Amino acid sequence: MIALALHGGAGAKAGRDYSAEIAHMREVAASARERLKAGASALDVAVETVKALEDSGLYVAGKGASPNAAGDYELDASLMDGATRMAGAVAALKDFPNPILVARAVMEKTPHVMLAGDGAARFAAEHGFSPLPDPKAYFTRAGRFESNHPPGVLAHGTVGCVVLDAQGRLASATSTAGVFGKLPGRVGDTPLIGAGTWADGTAAISCTGQGEYFIRVNAAAQTAFRHAAGETLEPAGNAVLQQIVDMGGEGGLISVNARGEVAVPFKSQGMKRAWFQGDGEIFSDAF
Ligand code: ASP
Repeated sequence: MIALALHGGAGAKAGRDYSAEIAHMREVAASARERLKAGASALDVAVETVKALEDSGLYVAGKGASPNAAGDYELDASLMDGATRMAGAVAALKDFPNPILVARAVMEKTPHVMLAGDGAARFAAEHGFSPLPDPKAYFTRAGRFESNHPPGVLAHGTVGCVVLDAQGRLASATSTAGVFGKLPGRVGDTPLIGAGTWADGTAAISCTGQGEYFIRVNAAAQTAFRHAAGETLEPAGNAVLQQIVDMGGEGGLISVNARGEVAVPFKSQGMKRAWFQGDGEIFSDAF
């Protein structure tokens, strides 16, 4: 059994047309399925999928990043391989187009899980990643249409992918530019293993929403642990999201388990998402 879910963020706003994002997510899901059928690993497919979402400029991650309050682009990303429990992350990374690839290099080439700020940028440059010559010209701020929120209210966007491969391995990857108007140095849930991203032998989770709340409920790991303790994915995810709503936050998550079951719950206006199980239909929606 293979299965995959991906998301383009829970910042979707009612009344907007997300047909371009949905068409793109379906295309990315279809090519991920071909890779999984050809035997690719869950980790490779999760990273390739997030990279494709980053490169598209359609979401608030990678090319579509929006700036922080100082006008700079600080990106966060993480990934976790459920089979090995290896994980990698970057936080507040400036000047590189694909934070998810740098996060993978942190996992594979250092004894650490996370590098942040200048250290992350130096590591990336030293490991073959090319800094953008003109970051402000590269990043397109895909979320500019989603920033129709009152000042002080956080709006956001993120991408993520969870995968079960044909060998039964699970993986999760998540990437973001964070919430709009964030303070310089602000880090959300996305690069925090357990909060925004989690994978183990039984489930893989990737979150999207107001990271400050996801951190405080350890959302991704809590969903997986509830599932391991006997809840099915949908109620497990909904219980965690309800804790976030009760604290005043919002968002959603995507999840897949070792049996190939998928759940994509959200408690926000919308969440751009696509998913499939085995050879079944590719489902997609924004609301
Ligand atoms: N969770 C992300 C953050 O707080 C934002 C998002 O998912 O849209 O940085």
